[in-house]
Amino acid sequence: MTSLRDNNEILRFKIIHKYLIVYQILLLKGIDMKYTDMTKEQLKEVHAAAEKEYDDILRMELNLNMARGKPSAVQLDLALGVLEALHARSHFANSKGDDARNYGIWDGLEEMKAIFSGMMEVPTSQIIIGNNSSLGMMFDVVSRGVTHGYKGCKPWGKLDKVKWLCPVPGYDRHFRITEYFGFEMINIPMLPTGPDMDMVEELVSSDPAIKGIWCVPKYSNPTGITFSDETVRRFAKLRPAAKDFRIFWDNAYCIHDLTDNPEHLLNLYDEALAEGNEDMVFVFASTSKITFPGAGVCAMAASDRNIVDLKQHFTTETIGPDKLNQLRHVLFFHDFNGVKLMMKAHREILEPKFRAVDRVLKEELGDSGLATWNMPNGGYFINCNVLPGCAKKVFRLCKMAGLIITDAGATYPYGKDPDDSNIRIAPSFPPVNELEQAIRVFSVCLKLAASEKLLAE
Ligand code: PLP
Repeated sequence: MTSLRDNNEILRFKIIHKYLIVYQILLLKGIDMKYTDMTKEQLKEVHAAAEKEYDDILRMELNLNMARGKPSAVQLDLALGVLEALHARSHFANSKGDDARNYGIWDGLEEMKAIFSGMMEVPTSQIIIGNNSSLGMMFDVVSRGVTHGYKGCKPWGKLDKVKWLCPVPGYDRHFRITEYFGFEMINIPMLPTGPDMDMVEELVSSDPAIKGIWCVPKYSNPTGITFSDETVRRFAKLRPAAKDFRIFWDNAYCIHDLTDNPEHLLNLYDEALAEGNEDMVFVFASTSKITFPGAGVCAMAASDRNIVDLKQHFTTETIGPDKLNQLRHVLFFHDFNGVKLMMKAHREILEPKFRAVDRVLKEELGDSGLATWNMPNGGYFINCNVLPGCAKKVFRLCKMAGLIITDAGATYPYGKDPDDSNIRIAPSFPPVNELEQAIRVFSVCLKLAASEKLLAE
């Protein structure tokens, strides 16, 4: 017969045992404890569990992609009316009587300018409408600086050295343009308020070799940050050592809100104008993520003096942009309000995807300390920082498991992330169920990479 004391011992043992099992399960999922606080033994256990999960994933032969910020087919379907807008139409003139089918009107249809004026918050007189890609327009504007220069200054291509400021993490394709032209790129850390303006001011005012800076001022790619009012004012007030220093204000996500709390970006063009600094500013936008990427319409805004320089460039390059595409966009949207309605419909498709990523990351990585990420109020990306030294490995493991994510390092000039930590998550393209699966795969790869790294230390 067991005594009361024995019974109590047994009960206590059972309770402790039960807690140990729960602890073990949580430990194996790696969510109750920071990996960096684990003992080697605990790390071995989470590593073995992640390895098993990874093997199971390999057997599934997945084919998932969350690499680029592309709209999904459902989003693209919303704009099909653009393609029909010119159907069975016999009248192709705009309000000024310009025939959109013919050559000419180098800077675009007035009605298209009015739509971009709403998006970019600049008067139509400062707007030049381009073709299908704002990135292409940025390339052209940089290339004009290289071959002919701005404001009568020596062309950048004739200088021994041109330097360019690159807020990081940033947009890989911006960096590719400045790398292509052989400019030396200087990393500027992104703070919650935008680029580190102390550093920007110090460098720009002291070094005449610095000719430009890339900025994605609203819902930045990939950080989701919107520059604060103070940051914008400090940009407008810059006193560059180089007379031909230019801010490339790529407002690609100017109306791409995801929540009921849209962020407000102060108008750089107006602020710069008030400072007599408007020549320093080039603003860009496009309908790529409103209608069709690759078949939308792009635009830029510039000062009167810059427009004179750019007119020479653009009218030499082409006899006129694709105005039929502009006309069908105008007929489809009518005005800027039409664009705003479209963005509401986009939000309905995109918002659940962003929420799904956030939810699954929380479930899978919880308090593991392996990653931090943001939930932006707009734009196309979730910015994820994993345990330093792990991003490249996570990318490779994901790739082998059939999941393509943005190349680790891509968010830094020359593909070199000094911490090997930043990973851009693009939730827009896959459907929610695939996205959830992709984030689970990503999490397993991160657990595997991180436990391997910590075990090796
Ligand atoms: N700028 C930013 C910040 C982007 O993220 C992208 C696309 O992802 C682009 C420009 C490309 O724009 P477009 O299609 O007008 O060339």
